[in-house]
Amino acid sequence: MSADFEELSVGFEPRPRMNADNSLSGLLDRRALLGGLTAMAGAGLAAAFPGSALAAGDPNACRSMIGPKDTWIRGLPVIDAHCHIFNARDIPAIHFITKVFVPQYAVNLSAANKRRLASEISDFASQALGRTPSFEQERAVLEARLAGEPELAALAGSPALPKFARGSDRSSFGADVADNITAVRNLIAILTGFRHKNFEALSATNALSRPDTGVALFTPAMVDMDFWLGAGGESESSVGDLGTDASSLRQNAPARQVELMEMIQRLYPGRCHGFVSFCPWRQVDDLHHNATVGEGSGRRRQTALETVQDAILNRGFLGVKLYPPMGFAPLGNAALPPGAFPDALADTPYARDFGTLLDEALLGLYRFCVTNDVPVMAHGAPSNGAGAFTNSAGRKMDYALRAHPEGWRKVLEQPGLSALKLNFAHFGGSRDTGERPEWRATIGAMMDAYPNIYTDLSHYPEMLMDSYTGTGQRCSAAARALDPIRKEFLKSEAGVKRARRMLYGSDWSMLSKEFYYADYLPVVAHMYRRKIYGVGQGAEKNAQAFLSYNAAEFLGLRAGEKARTRLEAWYARHGLDPAPLRRFDAVGG
Ligand SMILES: [Zn+2]
Repeated sequence: MSADFEELSVGFEPRPRMNADNSLSGLLDRRALLGGLTAMAGAGLAAAFPGSALAAGDPNACRSMIGPKDTWIRGLPVIDAHCHIFNARDIPAIHFITKVFVPQYAVNLSAANKRRLASEISDFASQALGRTPSFEQERAVLEARLAGEPELAALAGSPALPKFARGSDRSSFGADVADNITAVRNLIAILTGFRHKNFEALSATNALSRPDTGVALFTPAMVDMDFWLGAGGESESSVGDLGTDASSLRQNAPARQVELMEMIQRLYPGRCHGFVSFCPWRQVDDLHHNATVGEGSGRRRQTALETVQDAILNRGFLGVKLYPPMGFAPLGNAALPPGAFPDALADTPYARDFGTLLDEALLGLYRFCVTNDVPVMAHGAPSNGAGAFTNSAGRKMDYALRAHPEGWRKVLEQPGLSALKLNFAHFGGSRDTGERPEWRATIGAMMDAYPNIYTDLSHYPEMLMDSYTGTGQRCSAAARALDPIRKEFLKSEAGVKRARRMLYGSDWSMLSKEFYYADYLPVVAHMYRRKIYGVGQGAEKNAQAFLSYNAAEFLGLRAGEKARTRLEAWYARHGLDPAPLRRFDAVGG
């Protein structure tokens, strides 16, 4: 891009819809859906770093952070180890936004403004959900694309990205209800898109606009919150069932999400390999259902664990995403009283043994992961809890606390599980709630005690809030965030090893509600190199490890490793060129 200091449009209006016009709404069969195809030339996305070709749509890009002199990052196959491309059909959207998102992020709002925000968001989300591409619509579009047809005219071209007003220290954490509404509306706008267009938007926001510089591989994670936030169960969302009660809409089953993700991985070979979600409650429910209908019944379900195994072994997925703040401990649920779980559990036939059954479901997952060298990403911050319960002492306990890294010690102490590959996502959280130092200290202690413990620096709004003033670089908030990591977390001998366990992640699309979200990669990369020094291999090598080498190790991408071998077989099965995988052979530092 010619101008490093691109001027931005200012305004709060929702961005133009990137996914489709309203003619795509409603029930459409494949033929009708594809009837809108035009003969326009497909956009070439085969380049090693196609993100730069899409960068023109970036609203916020702080390109000056990475300039021509930054040879240390040139050719580095950056890995975004924590991101998302799901849409609102893949999560219990209304419940997620009103029960998890608004309480978590609108912290500075008064109770009345919080209610105003929640109802505003609910109304908006209900309307937006009706326009969100369903499983069937996206599958039809992806089938056509994979058959060599060009993109639907309505979807062709660069995705437009959310725009925010510029100003100092603006963040969705702000006290202004308008800021919050804008931020969440922009997030919802992304959540109503086609998943593969969300991937293109993700790619565009992470572009660095320099030759051979940018993200080589994204590992978008699914999440499975339906049982904890909604009703769970068997029925699927479909285009026609919205009715008037959008909040009862269920997410697409994980197996369906896996099917779409695999097609997206094939569409962008070498650039996208997903993390499949695992919900232990779903596994308990599936096993109960299968036991009830009996062996060989046509009504038997593919279980949550079977979906994970299929995604990893056969469908080009790299890892598994777990979300303990929904309400379960990584292990040791058997010791919790039934009242420590959500009320909806009482209506299930397995309520009495729930804790024990959860533990069995989780152990089954961990054993599969260790045997097959599969990394697990677990939410690792005191945030995004699905609710609270009252303990025996009458104290209110937020489910967010079940994400505490200490809870994982029980898992790693199990015979045969000490080598589990684990990423504590968010490194104890971006917002210092007072608990953060203790969470981080625990993560450090776990890194020192076990061989494969990682953490990612995803979604730190302070990297963005004052990142750039237009007259120079001003990254004091980012520096304040990184200094303690160097001075405390990476101090001492342990720091050498710990520096090899830090992962880069954006947490986009969740990040898109921050006002300068597109600055994340340049600011984090630049500031990490500047501020993390004096440990391990020096500033440049530390930054390269953080952005690429560490994740290559976590994901098992190097030649001869199990994940790499599985991916090579998957590429061969789909007639894809495995060359992009070789980018990770040279890395290792
Ligand atoms: Zn995330």
